[in-house]
Amino acid sequence: QAKAAGKHQYRFYAEAMTRAAQDKLHLRGQLSQAVAKGEFEVHYQPQVELTTGRLIGLEALVRWRQADGRLIPPGAFIPLAEETGLIIPLGTWVLREACAQAVRWQAEGYPELGVSVNVSVRQWEEPAFMPLVQQILLDTGLSPSHLILEITESVLLSDPQDARMQAEGLASLGVRVALDDYGTGYSNLSQLQSLRIGQLKLDRSFVQPLPGGPREQALVQSALTLGQALDARVVAEGIETEEQLLMLHALGCPVGQGYFLGRPVPAAEFEVQHLQR
Ligand code: C2E
Ligand code: MG
Ligand code: MG
Ligand code: MG
Repeated sequence: QAKAAGKHQYRFYAEAMTRAAQDKLHLRGQLSQAVAKGEFEVHYQPQVELTTGRLIGLEALVRWRQADGRLIPPGAFIPLAEETGLIIPLGTWVLREACAQAVRWQAEGYPELGVSVNVSVRQWEEPAFMPLVQQILLDTGLSPSHLILEITESVLLSDPQDARMQAEGLASLGVRVALDDYGTGYSNLSQLQSLRIGQLKLDRSFVQPLPGGPREQALVQSALTLGQALDARVVAEGIETEEQLLMLHALGCPVGQGYFLGRPVPAAEFEVQHLQR
C-alpha cells in the first residue's frame, strides 16, 4: 500500500517536472519569437535630485508586451533571455531605443537628462560590447556623458581584471558605469576600489527600513561614504514613502528613484507625468 502511494507520488513528481520543462521550452520559443517580432517596450522611471527635486535622469526598464496585451515584467524573462543568449539582441534593442528616446527628450528641451540602461553580464562580456555602445551613441547622437550603463557586482565574478579594463574603457569614452543593487553582492572593497564606477545604486533593501534607527541609517551612511571614496554618485533605489525620502535627504543622499517619485511608465506617459509640468 505504502509502496504504491510512493510510486504514485513519484509519478506525480516526474509529471510535474516534465511539465516545468515543457513550460520552459514553450516560453523559450515564445521569447525567441518575441525578440524576432520586437514585442518589447521600454518603460522609464525618473531619477530625482533630492536637494532640488529636479528630474536629472531616467532608468530604462524593459517589458514584454505579449500579443494578447499582457505585460510581462523583466524578472519573468530576463533570466531565460540570459540563459539562451537572446539577451544579446534584446539588450542591444533596449540600449538603442533608450538612447534614441533620451535624444528626443533632450531635443524637446531637457538637455540635461541622463539615461540609465541595465546591462547583463552576458552582454558585458561580449567582445563586441564596447564597439556596440560606441556605434549606438554615434547612430542616435546621444552624448556619451548622458549614458549610464548599470551593471551588478556579478561582472567581477568571472574576470575582474577584464571588468576593470572595460569600465576604464567606457570611462575614457565618457560613458559612466553604475553599480546596481549595491549591498546585495559579495564583492570586497578592494575589488570595488579598482572598478571605475560613476554611480552607486543603493539597493532598495537598505531604503525600505528607513527612517529606521541608528543601525539602518548607519548602513546608508556607509554607502554614501563609499560613494564619496569611489567618486561615485549614490542613487537610492526603491523609495516608496515620504519618510524614506526625507531620511535619505537628511543623510545627504544626492539622488533617488522609486515609486514615491514615479513608477516606470511608457515614454508617452513619462512625458505627461514628468516633462510637461
Ligand atoms: P533594477 O535594475 O534594479 O531596476 C529596479 C527595479 O525596481 C525595477 O523593476 C523597478 O520597477 C523596481 N522599482 C522601482 N522603484 C521601486 C519601488 O519604489 N519599490 C519597489 N518594490 N520596486 C521598485 P523591474 O522593472 O521589474 O526590473 C527588474 C530587474 O530586471 C531590474 O532591476 C533589472 O535587473 C532587470 N532589467 C530590467 N530591464 C532590463 C534590461 O533592459 N536589460 C537587463 N539586462 N535587465 C533588465
Ligand atoms: Mg537597474
Ligand atoms: Mg537595482
Ligand atoms: Mg537588478
